[in-house]
Parts: sequence; structure tokens; C-alpha cells
Amino acid sequence: MSWRDLPIRDDLRGLTPYGAPQLDVPILLNTNENPYPPSAALVADLAEAVTHAAAGANRYPDRDADELRKDLAQYLGHGLLGANLWAANGSNEIIQQILQCFGGAGRTALGFEPSYSMHRLIALATGTGWVAEQRDPETFELDPARAVAAIERHRPDVVFLTSPNNPTGTAAPLELIEAVVDAAPGMVVIDEAYAEFFRPGTPSALTLLPGRPRLLVTRTMSKAFAMAGARIGYLAADPAVIDALLLVRLPYHLSVFTQAVARTALAHTAELLGTVDAVKAQRDRIVAELTGLGLSVVPSDANFVSFGDFADPHAVWQGLLERGVLIREGLLPHKLRVTAGTEDETTAFLDGLRDVLAKES
Ligand code: PMP
Repeated sequence: MSWRDLPIRDDLRGLTPYGAPQLDVPILLNTNENPYPPSAALVADLAEAVTHAAAGANRYPDRDADELRKDLAQYLGHGLLGANLWAANGSNEIIQQILQCFGGAGRTALGFEPSYSMHRLIALATGTGWVAEQRDPETFELDPARAVAAIERHRPDVVFLTSPNNPTGTAAPLELIEAVVDAAPGMVVIDEAYAEFFRPGTPSALTLLPGRPRLLVTRTMSKAFAMAGARIGYLAADPAVIDALLLVRLPYHLSVFTQAVARTALAHTAELLGTVDAVKAQRDRIVAELTGLGLSVVPSDANFVSFGDFADPHAVWQGLLERGVLIREGLLPHKLRVTAGTEDETTAFLDGLRDVLAKES
């Protein structure tokens, strides 16, 4: 029996599930996680918060996660209030709710590829048509005039722009975001999952929120906050957007445990974000050392770097895996993507890569 034999929706038949490999190897640099686990003190605080939440687990959680949303607003600043924030189980669920609300049957979403593959997959899973325009094949940047022309051509209900973009690391300048919002007939989602890793001077789309009720900025605690396992994503937008999302969210979607963990992590923001500079330093080290090896490297505002160009990227990926280092393949032609790890993990990656390349040549 295969799933293909089941009477699933016809429009799901051609799809492939999201599937970054989860392999048991010593050095995991493949899914853009933060390499630093929570400190013993934070683990103790998280356990206490979970214990406290467990004592009331016979009751449903706060459906609207009001206190968490206030904490998130305070973290983001920019004059945002709890009413501007929404939270869910990872930013993937936020994206799903956005598409359930503003996409759906007979509607389309536009993305600029290569980009985060879940935008397309969630669009299709919610019955939303997907149209893709290509980024510059060399720099992976997006020219505002081209983006506006694409929007005028397709008139999409939802536009996705990832900044920094995954898998390239490319940030979107504010002029581009402004042009896209001005041209778009519908909602514009700026996916800022990696915003805390911006290089100095790269601005966030949060600065553009005032007066733009169709602009949505999504964030996550999975990356800089080192809480990928806790599944917490969020959105900043006009309060009317959040009111609209209430129509599609499942009641009590965010468990008492998730809300307690998220608030505890936010109370430790300084400690958790204290790892960001170390990760950025390793990111910049990867860019410098790979460039030194004569590889082509995409400049990155995120916690990962895409590099190449390889005639056989799979052989390089496999060679690294055999040396205990898991990175990501298959996202960009002839390229591989590596997440910045701790200094030791990054050293293991760089040493492993030099070794693989020496054996190949
Ligand atoms: N957006 C982008 C651009 C991502 O790379 C990811 C994770 N890979 C996500 C959203 C989803 O992250 P999460 O659901 O863990 O918040």
C-alpha cells in the first residue's frame, strides 16, 4: 500500500514532502539551527515553567496568547504592541495561516526563487496557486523594477519575499520591499526568519510597517533564539491582519507548554542572542576561507553560506558526510549550503572540505 493508492486530493499528487535529511552524525550543519544548546540555568528555568504550566494542563491555554504576544512586541520594539503580534507553532504555521486566510482556491501566491521551498509547498497544500519568478542567477539579488513587473503581470493575492533569503543569504533592500508593497494588489509577506543575523547596516522590514496594513513580517525563535525544538514562530503586522488570522487558526493552537517555554526564552533574550555574534563570526569566517579556496561564495546576511561551484556537488556532500559533517545539498544548482556552527564545528567542516577537495582533484 502506498499513499498514491489512497484517494488524496488530485492537486497533492505531484508533490514531495519537505525532507531535509535528519541523520545521526557528529556535526550537523544542514538545517540552519543555532549550534548552542540552552545553558543549564535556562534549562532549569524552562523546566520550572513547564512544571508550572503542567499544573494547569486540565484547562485549555490562552487562545490568543496575549502575554506572549506582548513579550514578543517588547522584544521587537519599533513601537509595536501585543495587538500587532501573532504567534504559532513555528513560522511555518504562521505562513500556513496567512495562506489559509489570504490565499486558497482560485487565488495565487508569488515567490522569487530560489527561495525557501515551504512557501511553495504550503501554498499548494492550502490550494493556493503558485507562481515563481527567478532571482538573478549569479547574484541572487532581485531588481525592484523586475519584481514590480512580475507583480503587475501576475496580480498575486500574496507575495513572498525572504530576507535574508534562504538558501542564498541575500537580504532585500528597503527600496525593494517598498516597491513590492506599493505594486502588490494583495498581502506581502517578508520572511525574516534569519533577521538577527543581518550584517551591520542591513535594515529590517519592521521599519516599514507603519501605514502599510498589507505588509506582514514573519520571524521565528528557531534560529537566533536557539529554540528550534520548541516550535515558536511569529508575525508582526497591522492589528487588522491578526484579527483576520483568527478566522483560520485552530482554537488553542499554541499549547500551555509552548507559551510557557516561549515566554521563558524571551525572558533570557540577552543570553540567547549572546550567541548571535559568535555565529556571525563563523559565518564570516566560512565566507572568507571558502573564497580563499577559490570557491564561489554567495555573500550572506544569515547564519548559513551557499558555495560552489561543483561539477558533482553530491560527491562533495557525501565526502563531508563520510567525515562526520552533514551539510545541505540540492537547493541550488552546483552549490552546497552550510550552516555556521561553533568554532570547532566550523573548523571540522572547513578541514573536511579541504580534504575532500584535495582528494577530488
Ligand atoms: N522561513 C525560512 C526562510 C526558513 O528557512 C525556515 C526554516 N528553515 C522557516 C521559515 C521555518 O522555521 P520555523 O517553522 O522553525 O519557524
